Amino acid sequence: MATTSKTRNIPFGRPMIGEEERRAVLEVLSGPILTHGPHVHEFEQVFARFTKAPFAVATASCTAALHLAYLHLGIGPGDEVIVPTQSHVATAHAVEYCSARPVFVDSEPRTGNIDIDAIEASITERTRALSVVHYLGLPVDMDRVMAIARRHNLFVVEDCALAIGSYYKGTHAGLIGDVGCFSFYPVKHITTAEGGMLITRHADVAKSLSMQRAFGIDRNIVSQRKTPGDYDVERLGFNYRLNEIGAAMGLAQMQRVEVFLAKRHENDRALRNRLAEIDEVELLDSSRPGIESSHYCLPILLKDPLAAKRLDVMESLGKRGVGCSVYYPRPIPHMSYYRKKYGDSDATFPVAARISKCSIALPIGPHVEAEDIVYIAEQVKSAIAEVK
Ligand SMILES: *Cc1c(COP(=O)(O)O)cnc(C)c1O
Repeated sequence: MATTSKTRNIPFGRPMIGEEERRAVLEVLSGPILTHGPHVHEFEQVFARFTKAPFAVATASCTAALHLAYLHLGIGPGDEVIVPTQSHVATAHAVEYCSARPVFVDSEPRTGNIDIDAIEASITERTRALSVVHYLGLPVDMDRVMAIARRHNLFVVEDCALAIGSYYKGTHAGLIGDVGCFSFYPVKHITTAEGGMLITRHADVAKSLSMQRAFGIDRNIVSQRKTPGDYDVERLGFNYRLNEIGAAMGLAQMQRVEVFLAKRHENDRALRNRLAEIDEVELLDSSRPGIESSHYCLPILLKDPLAAKRLDVMESLGKRGVGCSVYYPRPIPHMSYYRKKYGDSDATFPVAARISKCSIALPIGPHVEAEDIVYIAEQVKSAIAEVK
């Protein structure tokens, strides 16, 4: 086996910004239009074409897109939404913004995705929507989710923040449920610095939410306002727009998204092969028949008794120049805000809690080269040997 002795420095994530992005941003800055311009519109079209979405609406963030999805439903106090426990807090916060209640469901052990078998027991007559997150890019079994949603007449929100390039039986993530929400935060699959996108199969949802995104103004400034000030406001909308600078970056990133995804796929395969021989470590599934992950990162689960020394392993990896992270540090209901509000105990959500406590996420982004993969695998072995 090839060995690399020299210390490398591999960050967990790094935005892939090149000449194209720089040129695109400078071009916007050289002109008069920083918002409400052609780049946002084009970015929406390119994103829609890539995902084969009938409609795409660019937003200020994935969190804004999730909030918009619930605004469309008009949910409020007394309403409930099923939310996966193992996710970014944004998945639950978006429900809280509407004063509705997130009802948390634990994960399944092999993938970290929502435990579909446990969903129905959490549905009440107050449940209005069901949200799923494609955990680290591996799509949830949407056929089973949609069957439950149909049975109980629920709106389905897909948190696709890590799921650009994720496919469920040939359909891009975000298009099987009612709304799919994507993130362009710096270390996600593509970036606009801050930004997001909402895709949907429903024309009425797209129309209503692009209005809600901009104060609830009933006319689009570019194509529909004949004279300045010629508009009305029907609803309490937000300022959740993406700007032209971000959209220009996003367009440049979309030209390379296939290359980024191929690199992630290859890195995942190569690193998995090398980690498979480490006895102290368990890997989650990153593929299923008919299901394609976008491979956000590669989490390793430390088995007992090493699991108790996770922080030491992470520190050792850090010293060895291997950037790592934790997805996610606690089940959402164990975060102080949610614990104070809903009082869930440590004993609940054992699967998500185990992933939170025992896992270390390793980098497989497009900034990681083949030699880095060899290095990362070696350093994981050395770090474990050092800490044991
Ligand atoms: C990053 C992330 C978000 C939040 O995305 P923003 O664009 O920063 O709002 C939401 N959900 C998941 C699963 C994420 O990973």
